[in-house]
Amino acid sequence: MAVPKRKTSRSNTRHRRANWKATPVTLTTCPQCKAPMQPHIACPSCGSYNGRQYGVAERTEHQG
Ligand SMILES: [Zn+2]
Repeated sequence: MAVPKRKTSRSNTRHRRANWKATPVTLTTCPQCKAPMQPHIACPSCGSYNGRQYGVAERTEHQG
């Protein structure tokens, strides 16, 4: 396995990490209930995804 030859300088480390930023969460609106939801995830309020119902909102054993 390749091993780095030199220690990465503090300047290089900080310069690299200066460009590492968190991106805001993308939100779309649910076509069923118009609530804000993340894409590719079943709606947290009505539990629908791609026109089908997944009962996520009714299920309570994972909500604490
Ligand atoms: Zn919904």
